[in-house]
Amino acid sequence: MITRTMQPVQTISFSADCDNSAPRGSWQSQLSGAIRDPEALLAAAGLDKRWLSGAEGGHQAFEVRVPQAYLSRIKKGDPNDPLLRQVLPLEHETHAVAGYVTDPLEEADHTPAAGLIHKYAARVLMITSGACAINCRYCFRRHFPYEDHAASRAQWGRTLDYLREDDSLIEAILSGGDPLVSSDARLAWLVGELDAIPHLKRLRLHTRLPVVIPDRVDDAMLEWLSNTRLQKVMVLHINHANEIDDSVMKACERLRGVGVTLLNQSVLLRDVNDDVEVLRALSERLFEAGILPYYLHVLDPVAGAAHFDVPDSEAGALHDRLREQLPGFLLPRLVREVPGERAKTPIQA
Ligand SMILES: *Cc1c(COP(=O)(O)O)cnc(C)c1O
Ligand code: SF4
Repeated sequence: MITRTMQPVQTISFSADCDNSAPRGSWQSQLSGAIRDPEALLAAAGLDKRWLSGAEGGHQAFEVRVPQAYLSRIKKGDPNDPLLRQVLPLEHETHAVAGYVTDPLEEADHTPAAGLIHKYAARVLMITSGACAINCRYCFRRHFPYEDHAASRAQWGRTLDYLREDDSLIEAILSGGDPLVSSDARLAWLVGELDAIPHLKRLRLHTRLPVVIPDRVDDAMLEWLSNTRLQKVMVLHINHANEIDDSVMKACERLRGVGVTLLNQSVLLRDVNDDVEVLRALSERLFEAGILPYYLHVLDPVAGAAHFDVPDSEAGALHDRLREQLPGFLLPRLVREVPGERAKTPIQA
């Protein structure tokens, strides 16, 4: 993820870097080997055919995609597993619900150059890739099949010119889709260009890849991260403590080893993490992995995701109870993205 932005921005993605010649077990082969078929997902999750018609209906609208490393953390034979619920399409997805639309954030006015969204002060968001390693059913971009416009050098040039010319910019945020779907060679090039822009101080990445395919955090990635003068922040996307296994802990340790500050954003999801104890355990587990909770987003009203919704009043009450359970530094900020606002909007009980 995972920026809460949904508009028909052209991505200036480097085309998807699925590499069929990649060695087995490499992150690239794990990415291209992800399950993309409802039947295979049910088999892997140990569920019977009863779930198939719902899964196929949802898959038509937004394809199933789950890498093996994430699947391995799902409890087999449990349709209510909180990780499975994030990736298995249910019958409900195909029901139209009033107020749930295909473009909940209705924004198109902040795109000064291809793949660039400049909405908030001092930071600019670059859509570096349209693809993700995992398809989360509640995603606000589920109706937005970013074609992988492989960007021309000229487009990148204009995007970087925009950053060079605006010296109010302090932070460049690589987002998507998932920016880490791109190859290290391309990311190294891009970060090198950003590094050379004197007014930039920080590089931020919004990504779910170190969680869903921890092997993504390899030597090649650590090298370009080590080589930049920019301060580095990575905002991960984890919704449940079960997502953090030993391999994720290791990946986080390596990232911290090269000076990356790790933060997390979650989405509050019905029957996944809409529970004080689950959220408390998540914050505790995040801290064990060296990650600080940052945002807890309420769901964007995207069509097909209504069954994940937790009303604001309930979200606020949950958050108040969570506040009583945790030290302040482990309490995520409960927010919503409101179209047109200059920052995320806090939600009160
Ligand atoms: C969420 C978002 C950011 C980052 O906001 P922070 O509050 O700094 O995390 C930046 N740009 C856009 C367009 C966003 O939607
Ligand atoms: S990782 Fe999941 S939530 Fe994030 S952008 Fe991709 S599909 Fe959406």
